[in-house]
Amino acid sequence: MKNIIAETKSFFLKKYGMEPVWFAVAPGRVNLIGEHTDYNDGFVFPMAIERYTVIAAGPDNAVDADVYSINKNESATIKLDGSATPSQTVVWSSYIQGTVQNAVEAGLHPQSFRAIINSNVPLGSGLSSSASLEVATITLLEAITGQKIDPVQKALLCQKAEHLYARMPCGIMDQFISTMGCEGYAMLLDCRSRVPKMIPLNDPDIIVLIINSNVKHQLTGSEYPDRRRQCEKAAQLLGVPKLRDTTLQQLKETQSVFDKEPNGNICFRRARHIVTENGRTVAMADAMVRKDWKTCGKLMYESHVSMRDDFEITCTEIDLLVEIAQSTDGVIGSRMTGGGFGGCTVSLVESSKAGKISKTITEQYSTKTNIEPVVFATCPAQGAMILENE
Ligand code: ADP
Ligand code: MG
Repeated sequence: MKNIIAETKSFFLKKYGMEPVWFAVAPGRVNLIGEHTDYNDGFVFPMAIERYTVIAAGPDNAVDADVYSINKNESATIKLDGSATPSQTVVWSSYIQGTVQNAVEAGLHPQSFRAIINSNVPLGSGLSSSASLEVATITLLEAITGQKIDPVQKALLCQKAEHLYARMPCGIMDQFISTMGCEGYAMLLDCRSRVPKMIPLNDPDIIVLIINSNVKHQLTGSEYPDRRRQCEKAAQLLGVPKLRDTTLQQLKETQSVFDKEPNGNICFRRARHIVTENGRTVAMADAMVRKDWKTCGKLMYESHVSMRDDFEITCTEIDLLVEIAQSTDGVIGSRMTGGGFGGCTVSLVESSKAGKISKTITEQYSTKTNIEPVVFATCPAQGAMILENE
């Protein structure tokens, strides 16, 4: 993190001719297991990664705030007086404006400021640069005003910004983990009760490898709402409020009801993924407590197969990455992470072999696809912070 902070600080100094006064950082995240379970009121198991959005800021004599993103090489003006409304088109500063507006409505009244934003979370790769931007923004407002917001409320204000200002109907995972992540811990999050449980992931022999396939398939755009609808239909056929509330046994016993419905087989398989994925997510957290890495790995592979065959959200490149990982010495488990149709895989690997594993997977994947993947290793990182004395 030190490098990106120094870089942001010197950028600020050069642009504004003064030292920044406030620093806020918030990490990106990776989901270890529990995919598409959030909107079914189920479980997710993310951890914060050692990639951050950093904001350096100082006071200004204006009414609004002036923010500049190094990643976008662009400035934007942010209203601080509570008069902002969601714009027709979503732009990068919408995430900031939405967060500021929600914070103002919640009682924070920051003075005018100027800020430099810098991130080493890759933008748009499924590692939640958007939540890290929102959470860094609200953390900056805490630094400026000296007021503290309860972490759960903080995460919910950021989620609301993403819903209203970025028009992305996301669950609570990204903002929760970016706000409340703890170094050395993954977070088992019950999306119904919203109660997070921190699970130690601090064995020096184990490290998490994230591999960006650098593929994002543009499909019809209706895949996500389709999956949501299919899950809702399945819950309805089962007579439960959400798929969280059923079991594999009940699902099997209701198969004939599904068979009578148009596309019933698809809904059945979607439900089977959610029900088994919820079970796997809780089981993986249990296994991690026991440091039973073999079981963790097995559950990750099973999760991938379930996403591939039942939920049908993987793609050939991502399947290939998992296949290569599975046949590489030192890989304990691997699966696609994120919404699907490309993006990243997450793997648990033996730390001592991580370098060799990265090399092997990069070589084999690029030979077969002509695409260079991006690989990095990370341990669970700390959530958002105000940095003093930088
Ligand atoms: P992800 O959250 O998986 O990275 P999203 O599509 O949800 O992908 O969010 C990416 C968007 O968030 C970017 O296209 C941009 O609009 C905004 N964003 C995130 N980080 C930054 C940043 N450092 N500077 C400017 N915009 C950012
Ligand atoms: Mg996002």
